[in-house]
Amino acid sequence: MSSRNLADFLSVNPAQIRKDFSYFGDFGTRGVGYNVETLIREIKKILRLNVVHKAALVGVGNLGSAVLAYPGFAVYGFDIAAVFDNNPKKIGRKVRGITIESASNLNVLKKRKINIGIITVPQDAAQETADALVRADVRGILNFSPCCITVPKKTKVITIDIGMDLARLPYYMPTG
Ligand code: ATP
Repeated sequence: MSSRNLADFLSVNPAQIRKDFSYFGDFGTRGVGYNVETLIREIKKILRLNVVHKAALVGVGNLGSAVLAYPGFAVYGFDIAAVFDNNPKKIGRKVRGITIESASNLNVLKKRKINIGIITVPQDAAQETADALVRADVRGILNFSPCCITVPKKTKVITIDIGMDLARLPYYMPTG
């Protein structure tokens, strides 16, 4: 596939495509273009999506259950392998085939080599949950709680604040 074909898909210019790829290596052949399978493999490697990442979700309420039901994680090789909550009525129950464990046992993540945490607890419990995940050696946190959490440099946090994203929309909506 040529850089022109790829550029058309993405509505950018072909030179930008070639420049961006050449930044990472020599993926294409002059006059022939790019082999799509090779390209996908190389890009996955660059983004570290070429391996399965195990993740744990904390807070199995409405939002947490919706996140667990979302099939999109598997597409990128994410496996939600453990779920935690602090509600005694929920601990021990199964959700999507996974037994809910006590949030006081988050330290088991270290042993199970789960290094991504997904936070879906209420706002006031988000920081303590993040602290516990960091103590369990988690290296990445996807935070759905509408607040800023602070973590040491060794851990990366990405916050998804759905309310905030929705609040941005009216300003950008065409009027009239
Ligand atoms: P429900 O009413 O079933 O609890 P919800 O979505 O209204 O659902 P929230 O109050 O938003 O509940 O809490 C989300 C989930 O986070 C709940 O399952 C709750 O038990 C759990 N939770 C709250 N605090 C903590 C905590 N510190 N550690 C782990 N889980 C927590």
